[in-house]
Amino acid sequence: MTIFEKANYLIEIIENAGFEAYQVGGCVRDFFMERKCDDIDITTCAKPYDLEKILDENNVKYIETGLKHGTVTAVFDGDNFEITTYRTDGEYIDNRHPENVNFVNDIDEDLSRRDFTINAIAYNPNKNEIVDLFGGQKDIENKIIKAVGDPDKRFKEDALRIMRAIRFSSTLTFEIEENTKLALFRNKELLKNVSAERIFTELSKLLLGDNVFNVLTEYKEILGVIIPELVPIFNCEQNTVWHIYDVYTHTAKTVKESPKILPLRLTMLLHDIGKPLAKTTDDNGVDHFKGHQKISADLAAPILKRFKISNELFDRVMLIIPIHDIHIGTKKKNIKKWLNRLGEQGIRDLIEVKRADKLGQNPEMTGEELQNLITTEALVDEIIDNGEPYSVKDLKINGFDLINLGFKGKMIGDILSAVLEKVIDGELENEKETEIEYVKTFKALPSDEGEKKKEN
Ligand code: ATP
Ligand code: MG
Repeated sequence: MTIFEKANYLIEIIENAGFEAYQVGGCVRDFFMERKCDDIDITTCAKPYDLEKILDENNVKYIETGLKHGTVTAVFDGDNFEITTYRTDGEYIDNRHPENVNFVNDIDEDLSRRDFTINAIAYNPNKNEIVDLFGGQKDIENKIIKAVGDPDKRFKEDALRIMRAIRFSSTLTFEIEENTKLALFRNKELLKNVSAERIFTELSKLLLGDNVFNVLTEYKEILGVIIPELVPIFNCEQNTVWHIYDVYTHTAKTVKESPKILPLRLTMLLHDIGKPLAKTTDDNGVDHFKGHQKISADLAAPILKRFKISNELFDRVMLIIPIHDIHIGTKKKNIKKWLNRLGEQGIRDLIEVKRADKLGQNPEMTGEELQNLITTEALVDEIIDNGEPYSVKDLKINGFDLINLGFKGKMIGDILSAVLEKVIDGELENEKETEIEYVKTFKALPSDEGEKKKEN
């Protein structure tokens, strides 16, 4: 069964019990846009208690994911369907979630509380019935994001909608209708009342959109509310032969030029935020940004912490920002040393970040470096495909071999690193015998001289 057939079945069993039910929200929007959708939301006049009874009677499992807001998630044959009772939102306090919700009997009321006209269409596939009170289909056709009702009121109720508007503009490549747009800017400061997690969910989707460059530049003041550390780069000129854009425009370009992978796009967004603090101008009027990588990293870390992102995402971004300008080169030896230091994902991320960074610079200056990055990437592939050693894990000897030879403690790691260096430099075969022989040259020495030998 496809998810559509499953959703239809759920709607059917709810209707058979005497209640209304519709598909609603993103999946309906995607349907009219002929876009793929993998997540169908259902809305119904059945109250959660009745709904659970219907699901029980039809042997459909469910989770009470948001009972307070009227949401039950049906788990049907491996797919989840959020089923939400028609509701209106209670009073909004502090521009975020409503204090409480009121269940209502009328689909019209439920559609009125939704954020944008394109998200406020209900569709019943079994009856082939569309409920579109606010011209959502027409706005989809014209690629317009327009608030349902008075935009100022809607953004004051829940300021997250400001982020959602620009997120949809980025992912759908829609323009924001003029009144809605003006209200976005008027109410932007209210985003400070919204939780960092909710903002980050929308920011992540925004960064991955096709229209991200235009959204980042047109709505930069909104970005500046959620990440005030971006504000200094808005008007930071870079008078150097390498650049043709100010730091923020360059940043937005590099986000767009990087692959649609969240850690990479987040890296690009923050990679140059330290530039204003590092900026100096020489006697010829040329700007320099010495040490900006490290300053950018120091500024990025607390931003990422504020968003409460996973450690994995944090580490992946923070590995690259402080070194985004280093030269990897096209010598296998050097590539292997970077592979050892950064790991395979790390070096691949670094290559992508450097490529995106170059694509946001003066195209007259970047041809050779872009070509070199292609070579570097091909060499990384070759090293990985051939299983060429680049880390101590790849050596034919390990810590136990060294313990058996009588080494202890810190020396073990130091000697393995020395062996690896020889292997990478092509001075030692990656063969157990050869490596053991080499290790034995350390053996007779007391530990401090062993250290010295390693350095030689
Ligand atoms: P996506 O394709 O990203 O899932 P979506 O439109 O389905 O987009 P969701 O966040 O899944 O977005 O929300 C489902 C629906 O709930 C929306 O289409 C909209 O009708 C409504 N909605 C969600 N968040 C809000 C909000 N903050 N204010 C008003 N309505 C909202
Ligand atoms: Mg959705």
